[in-house]
Amino acid sequence: MAIVTPIETPHGERRRLRLSSPATGEFLHEITVANADDVRAALERARKAQPAWDALGAEGRVRYLRRALALLIAKQDEFIDVVVRESGKPRTEVLMMDIFSGCDSLHYVAKRAPRWLRPEKRRLHGVMRIAKKLRIVYRPLGVVGVISPWNGPFILSLNPTIQALAAGNSVLLKPSEVTPLSGKLVGDLFDAVGLPEGVLQVLLGDGETGAALVESGVDKVSFTGSVPTGRKVAEACARNLVPCTLELGGKDPMIVCEDADLDSASGGAVAGAFLNTGQYCCGTERVYVVDSVADEFVRRVVERAGALRQGCEGEFDVGPLFWPRQLEIVEEHVRDAVARGARALVGGRRNPNLPGLYFEPTVLVDVNHDMKVMQDETFGPVLPIMRVRDEEEAIRLANDSRYGLAANVWTRSPSHGVDLARRIRSGSVCVNDMAMTYGAPEAPFGGLKQSGVGIVNGEACVRSYCHELPILIDRFGGRQARSIYPYSFKRDAGMQRLIRFLWGTPLGRWLG
Ligand code: NAD
Repeated sequence: MAIVTPIETPHGERRRLRLSSPATGEFLHEITVANADDVRAALERARKAQPAWDALGAEGRVRYLRRALALLIAKQDEFIDVVVRESGKPRTEVLMMDIFSGCDSLHYVAKRAPRWLRPEKRRLHGVMRIAKKLRIVYRPLGVVGVISPWNGPFILSLNPTIQALAAGNSVLLKPSEVTPLSGKLVGDLFDAVGLPEGVLQVLLGDGETGAALVESGVDKVSFTGSVPTGRKVAEACARNLVPCTLELGGKDPMIVCEDADLDSASGGAVAGAFLNTGQYCCGTERVYVVDSVADEFVRRVVERAGALRQGCEGEFDVGPLFWPRQLEIVEEHVRDAVARGARALVGGRRNPNLPGLYFEPTVLVDVNHDMKVMQDETFGPVLPIMRVRDEEEAIRLANDSRYGLAANVWTRSPSHGVDLARRIRSGSVCVNDMAMTYGAPEAPFGGLKQSGVGIVNGEACVRSYCHELPILIDRFGGRQARSIYPYSFKRDAGMQRLIRFLWGTPLGRWLG
């Protein structure tokens, strides 16, 4: 964030926001909030630029992605500095989540998009193939609005943007007001490689700008953020009949079976809960451990969590919360849990030794399902662990949630892990690892229940930024359309004979 403070502006002027470091509180920069007029003007530029961008073809377009990749590799330190300054994250987390994943995404999409977007011949079935041929052509939707959150400020702005660009759309990107310059890096990157003007524009601002973008007349919205905002975006898109994908919050469960490798499972629990200071959409938010191994599992988790170094300079493992609202939510969840009988074996409070928005990595035991920390998204460095009688109880509790983003199960038997995974109502499941599917673009990624709508990443996602246009071509130059009239009882009888043959005989069904 940082800490975002509105600045008083004279009536009629654009609002401004002042940002300070979440790690130290020092002033970082100010941004001017783009209003509906700015969004409208940007949309007009984007519409003008899009046909020429489309005309480059997929091969021509992905050349810019390759150049962006080369530049990101060369300038990674500069990019890391911007994200570290705004978020206070450890450098390693920016490297892993933003730069490594960013390079992987750019390469993955640049290498494959031309193949995914190539026109296809599709074989028709039954008698229709005698008379017709089918071509599928992927046509860009036009202008895509991308709205991104603060927790993966670069990667979550980059990913939907490059998918939409590769598909031939122009893009209006609205990064979070909490990390605006980290999101704007995506625009800077493509400006630096000479992307034609108007094809990608970054609009800085808060909810005012986001809402204006959704209402502006874009052809699709890719939204990543919280459930309440996602609901507003979905309502506006429904009203405007604009397609959208919604990647929303989670309350991801982890199940530790009796036969789990407890060393790996405890490591996975700590990484899953404290990566990005717990501000990770697929972070481990609740653990169910089978009673017979619970003591040993908790002992190992406590040992690992207690060794984490929190800080803001040099080498450290856990940074601050990115903004004050998140710190308040974390404090409230821990307070509520402790008031209802939970115990903090590690942490449990703000870090008194650091100046910024620091909450200590926290391990809670003796939790139950009435607590906020087991029901609502905490999105902070808190790991509540609940003992369960057996795996059945673990599955029941894992599914007792209005969220369904990701989950992980730990067992020495991969096939048993897969059996358990199938029973969890979740967008994705990992066996013997913390949630990683977002980083595997071959895996369709999306949420169930209130965790989202639609799929991001991979082939299906790049194609979802296109209209899949079927072109049906008559093999006989349209001759049969000429003879459709006049209708007659004789022709009806002929058609009925055909129906009986096609779907009423084995040969007909074989042909179909
Ligand atoms: P948020 O919903 O507060 O904000 C997200 C974005 O929406 C920001 O850019 C914000 O300015 C904008 N916005 C706010 N009001 C808007 C409106 N009315 N119309 C349009 N846009 C509007 O979310 P956040 O706090 O920035 O992000 C954290 C949330 O994102 C968490 O719940 C987290 O789980 C979720 N998240 C989900 C995924 C996923 O892939 N499922 C990934 C990362 C984060």
